Amino acid sequence: MEIDFSKSAHGLIPAIIQDSETKNVLMLGYMNDEAYQKTIETGKVTFFSRSKQRLWTKGEESGHFLNLVDIKNDCDGDTLLIQAVPVGPTCHTGADTCWQTQNKNSYGFISELENTIQSRREKADSEQSYVASLFAKGINKIAQKVGEEAVEVVIEAKDANDNLFLSESADLLFHYLILLQAKGYKLDDVINVLKSRQK
Ligand code: AMP
Ligand code: ZN
Ligand code: ZN
Ligand code: ZN
Repeated sequence: MEIDFSKSAHGLIPAIIQDSETKNVLMLGYMNDEAYQKTIETGKVTFFSRSKQRLWTKGEESGHFLNLVDIKNDCDGDTLLIQAVPVGPTCHTGADTCWQTQNKNSYGFISELENTIQSRREKADSEQSYVASLFAKGINKIAQKVGEEAVEVVIEAKDANDNLFLSESADLLFHYLILLQAKGYKLDDVINVLKSRQK
């Protein structure tokens, strides 16, 4: 799909800026044809600033550039999705994003589950909550539980019952997340170790 700058008002089309790694939306700016070409030539995301009425390379004063990774045009050629690596905070307020959110990795449902585990640890009564009761028993008991679930996964892997294999895999992952928190870590810490091995 060709980008159609003429279709939109003043030849400007919106560009959504997404962190290529965390996938968080960092900001939104407008581009004309010239800003688009300059972005591709320099590898630094450049907008047409409506307030400055000129080309504006994000980071030109602050040094907080957005290094270009990828540009995608949308289905009908009137909105860009730009993936970039931010050099510093993207918002001029000093926040990571223009919506005052943190630009950190998020693992969707797993992150929600980690938050639930954390709140059970902090607030819940160990008589009411299984997770709280595990934390109350201490790290050795939690680690032992992970070992048991791992053995169950091994046993079910040998059999042909996929439901049991998946169910035990879920048990293992759940208890492993609890063990990580008991040790003061999150899945993100483990993923960072995996990433460092890829280089
Ligand atoms: P910078 O491009 O980071 O050197 O910032 C230069 C100026 O652009 C700032 O003083 C703000 O006026 C403006 N600015 C910087 N970042 C943003 C942003 N994310 N959204 C809107 N305006 C911005
Ligand atoms: Zn569109
Ligand atoms: Zn901002
Ligand atoms: Zn189990």
